[in-house]
Amino acid sequence: MTLVPTIDPAACAAHGDCVDIAPSVFALDGDFAEVIGTDQDGVILAAAEACPSVAIVVTDEQTGEQVYP
Ligand code: SF4
Repeated sequence: MTLVPTIDPAACAAHGDCVDIAPSVFALDGDFAEVIGTDQDGVILAAAEACPSVAIVVTDEQTGEQVYP
């Protein structure tokens, strides 16, 4: 499974928790985070689950299925 994160900029509060957990995947750009790269599925999922605003949507690249939230 290859997980792909996307960020809802309207939901993101830019606190940076996702950047702390997955600095190769997320970066803060002004008022919200953006996806800058990738990492192992577990790291992406952990960052999404740690987002206080539930602003990170994770989908399975192969199936297109939403894995989180
Ligand atoms: S953890 Fe969530 S709210 Fe915080 S910067 Fe990342 S996406 Fe935005």
